[in-house]
Amino acid sequence: MFGFLTQRFSSIFAKFSGKGQLTEANMDEALTQVSDALVEADVPYELVKSFVDKIKSEALGKKVIKSLNPGQQFIKIVHDKLAEFMGGQGQTSVSFQIPSVIMVLGLQGSGKTTSVAKLANYLCENARLKGKQRNILLASVDFYRPAAVDQLEILSKQVGCAFYRSEKKEVIKAALDIFDYYKKNQYEHLILDTAGRLHIDGKMLEELREIDGLLNPKYKILVIDSMIGQESLKVARAFEQGVGFTGAILTKMDSETRAGVAFAFRHELKKPIMFIGTGEKIGELEQFHPGRVADRILGMGDVLTLIEKAEKNIQKQQQDDLSSALSSGKFTLQDFANQIDMVNKLGSLSKIAQYIPGIDRSKLNPEAIEKGEYEIKKFKSIICSMTLKERLYPRILDMSRKQRIAKGSGTNVADVNLLLNKFEQSKQFAKLFKGGGFKNMFK
Ligand code: GDP
Repeated sequence: MFGFLTQRFSSIFAKFSGKGQLTEANMDEALTQVSDALVEADVPYELVKSFVDKIKSEALGKKVIKSLNPGQQFIKIVHDKLAEFMGGQGQTSVSFQIPSVIMVLGLQGSGKTTSVAKLANYLCENARLKGKQRNILLASVDFYRPAAVDQLEILSKQVGCAFYRSEKKEVIKAALDIFDYYKKNQYEHLILDTAGRLHIDGKMLEELREIDGLLNPKYKILVIDSMIGQESLKVARAFEQGVGFTGAILTKMDSETRAGVAFAFRHELKKPIMFIGTGEKIGELEQFHPGRVADRILGMGDVLTLIEKAEKNIQKQQQDDLSSALSSGKFTLQDFANQIDMVNKLGSLSKIAQYIPGIDRSKLNPEAIEKGEYEIKKFKSIICSMTLKERLYPRILDMSRKQRIAKGSGTNVADVNLLLNKFEQSKQFAKLFKGGGFKNMFK
């Protein structure tokens, strides 16, 4: 996601994380490397220069060089400046007033329609976590891209949201018709997909302005493809001048993008990045937290985002069960199987690794990850072949039971023994948290 910058930045700063070792000369050298990395990530040169100058004057101004642990202080200054450039540490939550119209803007192919559905899903999931339900209407006036309206209808079913197709053939009339339907049926939000073009186009902007004037949406969200580099800043400026927007969604941050746009956007447009798209699936939208992204770029991981992902993906009940099993020390093979399921729900092992501090993804061995994933599947099938009694009291597993289980799961007795060993290790781990609870691990 921020792989390119993370790789470059964490290796530049690795040498500063210990004590001392900071001189004006090696700070200059590090800042030159930072500049190169940002320019390569397609951040405008003037912005890179101003970023580096600010770090330098702050580091020198604070007399970092003479202080106790200058290396770490220097990294902190870089971290804080990174966060500040991307929107500030304070940018923590995105909330949408109810009722409200959310108009989604962007060029064709930027991921606009997908983002409409992702946003609806995000709002529903967030409400669900608070025990509430959202009543959202999705609609589209993208009459230019063939099948765009059908695409949104299909996505609305995946999210479980209402969808309305206007019979009006003309964009402005359809927008008004959709707005009427939204009002009459008292939905909490209308998320309206608008027409994009392949390039910025005067007629497109005029049409968007007209819809904006008639529907007066509370939020206008611009969808930007992070893969088009600096060009995306030009596109955003044209939308800002033509119709204006509240904030942006940066899509395709999972792809080979160098993420320069995430760095430059706030500074250049004075508008926040609200979300980032991290994959093609409906659930792959993350709120953008500048401080956490700065953590990630400097190779400090992002445990909070991982916990949020876990909360969304894992049934609350299941999490509470595990938490109490761990804290009571009664951790059974059944809990172990549930835990494996939970990890699976968070994504592939390599995807999870990017959020964990101290793991350098570039050094992860793809074969080891594949092996790990294969083992997880194997363990799951071994546990599935056990009776409930065996799962609760694994000490009853004698040779004949082990042979039966190995046969049933298509494995061998050595695999069953390996699972039991790993389970024992997890149990020891569980005891460590006895009384503390699973969640305290992250406090
Ligand atoms: P629109 O023309 O702007 O409405 O674009 P679509 O929503 O149809 O998206 C264009 C393509 O980008 C589709 O293949 C989407 O699946 C893909 N896409 C959208 N968002 C993301 C994202 O965050 N990551 C990745 N990898 N693909 C995305």
